Amino acid sequence: MSTKKLQLMHLFACPQCKTRLFPIKMKGKCPRCGFRYRKSGGIWHFLKTGDVQTQSSAKRYNSMHKKNFIGPDDGSYEILGSFARGNRTVDIACGDGRIETLAPETVGVEFSLNALKNAKSRGVKHLVHADAQALPFTDNSFDVAICAGSLEHFVDPQSAVNEMARVASIQILTVHKKLPFPLSLGERVLTNLGRVTHQPIERPFSRRALMGLLRKAGLHTVFEGVWTLPVNYGKAVSYLPQLSSLPSCHFVVSIKRK
Ligand SMILES: [Zn+2]
Repeated sequence: MSTKKLQLMHLFACPQCKTRLFPIKMKGKCPRCGFRYRKSGGIWHFLKTGDVQTQSSAKRYNSMHKKNFIGPDDGSYEILGSFARGNRTVDIACGDGRIETLAPETVGVEFSLNALKNAKSRGVKHLVHADAQALPFTDNSFDVAICAGSLEHFVDPQSAVNEMARVASIQILTVHKKLPFPLSLGERVLTNLGRVTHQPIERPFSRRALMGLLRKAGLHTVFEGVWTLPVNYGKAVSYLPQLSSLPSCHFVVSIKRK
């Protein structure tokens, strides 16, 4: 299935009813349910924000992405980019398109329009304005679906994982790790104390909860580990320097069994 040049237009399906779409012009609608989509400013628009919480989350992200959003610079994007290169890859919640600049055939999906515009200005080719919980692609469109540091911010993470399982055979995720109780409680206090800017939704996952999501989506977890990037505790680190050595995320690779 791997290919160098990606024909994005051949992969689209209605985010609402999953009917295959054949965009021939810059805009159109789903023949089955009437969902309208369009391409403007080099970005495909397929955003279906059904629930109010996702809408308000998208709004907050949009204001966060007015400025360029600087992600970690520990080599993790290079590694994820190397997974993406040479495969048909979709990057769920791509933000400013860090993976896409390293692996140019990657399709970046994002619900913040400002983030997409930043990605576009950085030369990213394939950008889709859509909700991770309602992806506008046909089943098995991709070899790999990446979701780096975003699952903990979704309203309905199970639907997002189900969608990753539907559209791709391999899933690569980094997911904010929940500390065991009572440290989890301490974490909350410390992040507040440290005045760490929270995302609209911040729901770290226990290993068990994450494995549950993947299992329910029919996925088999093959690799499991931790991303060594420390949690951002802001100023709290000056009181408790040990905090800066706590790894922040689960790192999992799963496959859809045929
Ligand atoms: Zn439809």
